[in-house]
Amino acid sequence: MVMKKLLLTGIVVVQVLTLTGCAVQGDGLTLTIERQGQGRVEPGATKGIARGTIVHLEAEPAVGWSFSNWEGFVSDPTSPETTILMDRPQTVKAIFLPKEELEIPSAPGGLMNWRADGSQIAYRTNGEADIEYIMIHAISDAAANPRNPYDVSRIRSIFDEYGVEAHYLIDREGTIYQFVQDGRIARHAGAGTWNNEPRLTNAMNRYSVGIELMGVGTREEMKDVIGPLANTLVKSADRGYTEAQYLALDLLLHHLQALYQIPAEKIISHQAYDPGRKWDPGELFDWTRIHN
Ligand SMILES: [Zn+2]
Repeated sequence: MVMKKLLLTGIVVVQVLTLTGCAVQGDGLTLTIERQGQGRVEPGATKGIARGTIVHLEAEPAVGWSFSNWEGFVSDPTSPETTILMDRPQTVKAIFLPKEELEIPSAPGGLMNWRADGSQIAYRTNGEADIEYIMIHAISDAAANPRNPYDVSRIRSIFDEYGVEAHYLIDREGTIYQFVQDGRIARHAGAGTWNNEPRLTNAMNRYSVGIELMGVGTREEMKDVIGPLANTLVKSADRGYTEAQYLALDLLLHHLQALYQIPAEKIISHQAYDPGRKWDPGELFDWTRIHN
């Protein structure tokens, strides 16, 4: 509203100048708008603004772009909505940057459509419309290779060995790999219950996307999972999760949440679904890093 009033004022000033046949610009000041990247700026370039006017500026990024900052003498260079005092001719530039593309390479060996036993990884009954939840897991090779538990090329054989698979895996460097398409039912949740909803009992595979973080839990959490000997051989630096993993997980969650309209409360741990049997991602996983 403020902006519209100012624009009207500007138009009136221009008209008055025209009517009186005044050849000079008088006090009318010019606001020049420049853009970098793709987006819209309101108002556009405006002439004949009265000296002392405060102009409200608004930047709106195009789809796939985000607002970065303003250049020029605006009151708040980092806010998409700001103001500028027209105490002289002014030039402002709105900087838009392309949104960071989420890169998700396929798993080593390609997407899994078939299992090692020759069975097909079936599509969800209602396709992607069935996706309501995201389940977070941890996986490692610590049982077999406790001194070198994070070899991505070992994951497929671990899946085969345990008769499981998940849609995504995030390695220690934060690379996100896709193993199974979202529309297919991966076996990551297994038996469990959630939210007193009978339809979710032992059926979360159908309703969720599974994300595996390469990670090892505490000694206490792992002792029955990888055995006591392997547990003593795991380096303490290999327990828990890395900074790069949290950043990648956050990007992946936002991507999936936007794609399938999944609210934050429907991001759950495997442990919450099956507390008697499962530990992951465990107490070393910092939930405050992803709920933002
Ligand atoms: Zn799990």
